[in-house]
Amino acid sequence: MNTKVKKIVSLCAAGIAVGSMMLSGCGDRVPEDKGEPVVTEFQQEGPAEISVFAMDTYMKVTAYGAQREDAVNAAVEEILRLDQLLSAGDETGEVGMLNRTGSGTCSEDTAYLLERSLELHEQTEGAFNVMMYPLMEIWGFIGGNYAVPSQDTIDGLLPLADLAKVSYDPRSKEVRFAEQGMKIDFGGIAKGYTSARIMDIFDACGITSGIVNLGGNVQVKGKKPDGTNWRVGIQDPNQAGAYLGILQLSDQAAITSGGYERFFEENGIRYHHILDPNTGRPAQSGLTSVTVVSADGTLADGLSTSLFVMGLEKAEAFWKANGDMFDAVMVTDDGNIYVTEGLEGRFESKAGDVHMIRRDPA
Ligand code: AMP
Ligand code: MG
Repeated sequence: MNTKVKKIVSLCAAGIAVGSMMLSGCGDRVPEDKGEPVVTEFQQEGPAEISVFAMDTYMKVTAYGAQREDAVNAAVEEILRLDQLLSAGDETGEVGMLNRTGSGTCSEDTAYLLERSLELHEQTEGAFNVMMYPLMEIWGFIGGNYAVPSQDTIDGLLPLADLAKVSYDPRSKEVRFAEQGMKIDFGGIAKGYTSARIMDIFDACGITSGIVNLGGNVQVKGKKPDGTNWRVGIQDPNQAGAYLGILQLSDQAAITSGGYERFFEENGIRYHHILDPNTGRPAQSGLTSVTVVSADGTLADGLSTSLFVMGLEKAEAFWKANGDMFDAVMVTDDGNIYVTEGLEGRFESKAGDVHMIRRDPA
């Protein structure tokens, strides 16, 4: 157990609600400002629930059980801590500072994420790449100055996304970028890591039933208090606010990547925020959304981005080789839904045809 979890255990044991001093019962509000936690329910019975705006999205943490208030308060504190620590552009945080100076010694969280990201980069043959930040900036996905860059500009920036130019020593945890302007971006994996950390907090607080929703990315602890699976809707990529289908989950994360989440249009063409590291352009893989289900939230997040970049055929092959670690629901741009075998009986479609991907087709 790492030191942070230890701290939370002791707070839970002492019955102290972390950060509860600044919280008050505010009725059914949603957070309006970054970092403003809003308690929607702290009652004698039922769940404890807190919403917060962080990592550019609305997040909601819900827990049942004796230590539910301590657990959700500690979870929100952890969300805010990780938001600052991991944000690529926030120079008051570790990753932001690393991006400014080009070198540094990683904390436990950053070292873990960097190691997982390097591993995923290798496993996905480069589809997952945490060094795409300069390209994200030039497309305007950072800062909001959306514009299609010239091919020369893209060609000039692609070398900065070369992970071979990142030297990292897992023993000293020192990291160094070989070229000026290289920047790390954990945007494709940070939310899954955050939800995984919240599951650790739930464990430390003895919570056996809880759920965290980080802007549509969900991770659940155990089952619902009535003993049934959690039921989680997957956003329909073609219809805002509508569900594509419902997933049943227990002790799992379900994390979705979709081009519809962030995009701009120029001359009638849509450009979205998930970039293909081979081209430096929005991935055009024929997929409109990928949801990855796994007990490992960090993996689910990293893989949802990776499979989106890979496209259906490569994603299917990747699942066949590594399917003991995850399952997936993938939607193609012609509206077909592909579901891997492990989710049989756990996914109900609301739209489109469902095709089951099996390891050994009958
Ligand atoms: P997600 O919603 O998890 O798919 O993450 C999308 C975010 O990941 C983007 O907003 C970028 O910050 C970052 N990103 C974009 N392309 C990639 C990529 N090929 N590999 C890893 N991260 C990426
Ligand atoms: Mg992701």
